[in-house]
Amino acid sequence: MSVQAKKGISVFPRLRHRHGGERDRTVRTIAANAALWPDATAFALPDDSPSPHDSKPAENSPIKVLLVNAHPDDESESAGVVYRISHELGGTVDQVVITNGEGGYQYSAPAEAFYRLPLTNPTDGRQLLSQIRREELMRSSRILGIRDNYFLDQTDTGATLRAEDAFDVWDVARIRQELRTLLEFGGYNVILLLLPTAKTHGHHQTVAAITLDVLNDMAPEDRPAAVGVQTTSPAEGFSELGGYALTRTTSSTPAWQFDRRTPLACHPTLDYSIVVNWAIAEHKTQGLFQLENARRTHEHFWLFSASGETGAAKWSEFLKLLELGTSEVRLAQESVA
Ligand SMILES: [Zn+2]
Repeated sequence: MSVQAKKGISVFPRLRHRHGGERDRTVRTIAANAALWPDATAFALPDDSPSPHDSKPAENSPIKVLLVNAHPDDESESAGVVYRISHELGGTVDQVVITNGEGGYQYSAPAEAFYRLPLTNPTDGRQLLSQIRREELMRSSRILGIRDNYFLDQTDTGATLRAEDAFDVWDVARIRQELRTLLEFGGYNVILLLLPTAKTHGHHQTVAAITLDVLNDMAPEDRPAAVGVQTTSPAEGFSELGGYALTRTTSSTPAWQFDRRTPLACHPTLDYSIVVNWAIAEHKTQGLFQLENARRTHEHFWLFSASGETGAAKWSEFLKLLELGTSEVRLAQESVA
């Protein structure tokens, strides 16, 4: 599939505001019309599913999660948990992606043969990668069962360790407004961010700072849980990003972790690392990232203090539902053994 083949087709509309509580189904409708990317809700659970819930992924799902990420491929850090939520627990996962990742051309050399396009020089790479990386994300989203993706089309300024770089370039007011609208009408229990350590990409830091600021503006009783995820757990722990007090976490060690080697509900000898690797493999333009295949065994989660008491309670409830899933998977495994 070349970029040219998609030219002129508005596959990726911008987030539109919702009015009167009515859901904007634009993204979902268009995705359902695209042969490559059938609606993620087609992954509705079969009747004999081990899900503890009767409901299928729907508006009334007990688990509603919003990922807020800087780049296509950031969703991989929580891919195991996202898959569990969408495929095994009847939950809903949506995602906001701030940039299209066009700054990630440095390691695209192997993908030039796959896409038959020049990707590794900055001029061509930036122009072509914007659409290609969104397509890669849509394929990864299909695997992980992410329902709606909202692309905010901010400039990917390239690799940096400074949060300030993106603050200088992005339309922060617009990002804040889109996030505010989604959080107000989306009914999310949990917001998943990448952990904003000083060593991670500066854009991840910026996204966490903006999102937590929006969260902090919400009435305490309306706040979802805001959680930072990272597949590696820093030896020194993580308490907050210097200069951004709202990134403070409730503990320096992870509040919870998910083992990707946990058996899948559908088969006791197969585990989540399979679907995580599928998702990673879809991001073919990201050569360095491909080396992450099969490297990480755990997803670590830190709860941000800005979640407040209500958010913390939602996080506890969320973990109970996930653990319920775990015990049911264990039961299925024991019955086979
Ligand atoms: Zn990233």
